[in-house]
Amino acid sequence: MLYPYEEKHPQQQFAFVFNTNRCIGCQTCTMACKSTWTFSKGQEYMWWNNVETKPYGGYPQFWDVRILQMLEEANPGGQVWNLAQKDGGQKPYGVYEGVTIFEGAQKRYGPEGQQRAIGFIPGDEEWRFPNIYEDTPVRTEGLDFVWDEKGVSLPEHRTWFFHLQRLCNHCTYPACLAACPREAIYKRPEDGIVLLDQNRCRGYRKCVEACPYKKPMFRGTSRVSEKCIACYPRIEGKDPLSGGDPMETRCMAACVGKIRLQGLVKIKEDGSWAEDRYNPLYYMVKVEKVALPLYPQLGTQPNGYYIPPRTVPRPYLWQMFGPGADEAIEKYLAPSRELLAVLQLFRIAQKIIFRYEIKEGKKVFETSINGKTWSMYNDTVIGYGRDGKEIVRTTVEEPIYIRKDLHLNSI
Ligand code: SF4
Ligand code: SF4
Repeated sequence: MLYPYEEKHPQQQFAFVFNTNRCIGCQTCTMACKSTWTFSKGQEYMWWNNVETKPYGGYPQFWDVRILQMLEEANPGGQVWNLAQKDGGQKPYGVYEGVTIFEGAQKRYGPEGQQRAIGFIPGDEEWRFPNIYEDTPVRTEGLDFVWDEKGVSLPEHRTWFFHLQRLCNHCTYPACLAACPREAIYKRPEDGIVLLDQNRCRGYRKCVEACPYKKPMFRGTSRVSEKCIACYPRIEGKDPLSGGDPMETRCMAACVGKIRLQGLVKIKEDGSWAEDRYNPLYYMVKVEKVALPLYPQLGTQPNGYYIPPRTVPRPYLWQMFGPGADEAIEKYLAPSRELLAVLQLFRIAQKIIFRYEIKEGKKVFETSINGKTWSMYNDTVIGYGRDGKEIVRTTVEEPIYIRKDLHLNSI
């Protein structure tokens, strides 16, 4: 892959896993971010975290359709995966043989010379409706009433939609950074967070144009660009409630649906993830392979990973998450004993969990999934912080707490 700067990687990387199957689209994450960072004049249309309803929703509107179309125009029919080269290590899903946004730009010239990544600047209208098409399903088939000898029966609705949670992916190869002619964007060596230096920025909007996920945004009042800062004071343990420990970002910590788990993973010199078997993110992405990057074909190597929605037609998921979608859904539908325990850690604590441990419990349930026996154990999962101290402990069967002596309406 072409990238305009030499390889240099941070010691740790900010990363997250989202379970799309659990999101209720409540937008609490969106508002947690908005009320923390983008509530000022000139930021009215700026949503660093947004949750859009797929397939029609998007902020900015149709951002992904447009960039996929541009890739296709740069290399017609070539965006394919070679599955024969699949191995268990660095190529778990095969090799992508199409062009990324970086190679796709080779034949594209602007007034300032060859572009570093293909992209576009959305118009004002496209930023204006962050939750357009919210909860709007796709009509597919089966919507007609059925008449037969028994009378009329209700139709089987085979419609679908799902919520896609989005923020800056703090990419390993950030397109925003690659495109900035002022070198105003940098990746922090300590945690891989991608920041935009507003003193260096001159508002050329090359980052807005190049980021395929459309996460840098231009502020009309200051005439410079802004982007998600991964709540870095919280990651650094500077939140007043942290006691000096790294804390999850505001959007992660506020998630009502408990769909989010965010952390830091160790990075090797070549940029790959160092083995850290009991880091919950490492386990889900590298061992269990239940979580996948969003549009991996774009080439920025995003550090946000998604457990794909199980109710969505597979071709849509293959395009969005690559060829690993089938395996990820299979793993999620009948989770292993370890995965089921790790899933309990989502949004269970505000502090970042660096390591987990599982203590085995009794078998509490048995059923059959896809013709195979599946058993559930009430294991206990324990999460530890950076200093090795226990942060949280919970069981697979969620404990019920009955509060005493409270008025029914009290919280
Ligand atoms: S998601 Fe966009 S803004 Fe964020 S690091 Fe990647 S390229 Fe840059
Ligand atoms: S807070 Fe959680 S459940 Fe609610 S919209 Fe955001 S990601 Fe989804």
